[in-house]
Amino acid sequence: MIPFIDLKRAYLPIEKEIQEAIGAVLDSQSFILGDIVEQFEREIADYCGTEYAIGVASGTDALVLSLMAAEILPGDEIITTPFTFIATAEAIVRVGAVPVFVDIDPQTYNIDPDRIAEAVTPKTKAIIPVHLYGQCTNMQKIKRIADEYRLVIIEDAAQAFGATHGDRMAGSMGKTGCHSFFPTKNLGAFGDGGMVTTDSKLMYDSIRALRRHGLVKGRSCRSGLNSRLDAIQAAVLSVKLRHVDSWIMERQRIAERYDEAFAFGNVFPPATDADNRHTYNLYTIAVPKREAFLQSMSHDEIDHRIYYPIPLHLQPCFEYLGYRRGDFPATEYVSDHVISLPIYQGMTQSEQEIVIDAITQTVRIHAFY
Ligand SMILES: *Cc1c(COP(=O)(O)O)cnc(C)c1O
Repeated sequence: MIPFIDLKRAYLPIEKEIQEAIGAVLDSQSFILGDIVEQFEREIADYCGTEYAIGVASGTDALVLSLMAAEILPGDEIITTPFTFIATAEAIVRVGAVPVFVDIDPQTYNIDPDRIAEAVTPKTKAIIPVHLYGQCTNMQKIKRIADEYRLVIIEDAAQAFGATHGDRMAGSMGKTGCHSFFPTKNLGAFGDGGMVTTDSKLMYDSIRALRRHGLVKGRSCRSGLNSRLDAIQAAVLSVKLRHVDSWIMERQRIAERYDEAFAFGNVFPPATDADNRHTYNLYTIAVPKREAFLQSMSHDEIDHRIYYPIPLHLQPCFEYLGYRRGDFPATEYVSDHVISLPIYQGMTQSEQEIVIDAITQTVRIHAFY
């Protein structure tokens, strides 16, 4: 069985480096924020090309804190994509605002910028573009719309650490960029962790206060959260950051092989915009008859996942928003047809071949042409 992901492959070659870094934290007995976290925040800001970075407890909290710092209020409308992890829209609900979904571009699966304007109302305050699977949304277009309607952009870069759009890094193009260090993300911690990147001193100060109960010098003017990055996670991530570019390149090489092998027929490999460096946190194909396809796919030889089987507008928790099946045809089509395939650092050539053979043979057997 080819695993969907195997985190040990990335860990074992750098085991010593990581254990030393964790050892240094244990020696210091300083576990929450502190020097190691501050140093790592500096490294992330430098990597992403932003002025500031603020370590927080998760990618979800990075979104919540960004919305709070942007002064989003109950009843405000926030535009986002229905084809994303649930945390994106959940963060909007958490601050009392209303998610407003806009269908995706059927090529890239990212929010379709050309459909955003028609969803804007006087209550619209912000847009959260999600860089799905590791590929940036078309941010030039998003920025144009945001400028026209005076909307704040909060990037959900949780799946796209290290991705670029033109000469900009994911997380450096909005008012804030929200990163997740969930273990399976391209830069993954040994637990939960997140980061906000920003060029705005105002957002920086505000999020730094909000992540620790709104406290500034012992005074809290606004209730916040307890949402901080641990020193142990920062130490681990700081070591991993030195390797992340080579890991991304490895993912790109695997994706290139997959792309070539699947270019022949009725398997649709991911489409990448010319301006983008895709980081392939997930390598996701679309196939015509998914159920039949999966049933016959090489007797369970290939572990796979479906991201995402239920679009957000059809999730029970968002029923109160009043959306129905049929509202977002591109999203619904894609969520019924995608399959994410194994891709990870340390994946061997022969493992890649087994995946390629399984997919190409399934296509042949079922004459999906
Ligand atoms: C992983 C993810 C998040 C949430 O990150 P956590 O660190 O798990 O809270 C948010 N948005 C997207 C698109 C994600 O993939």
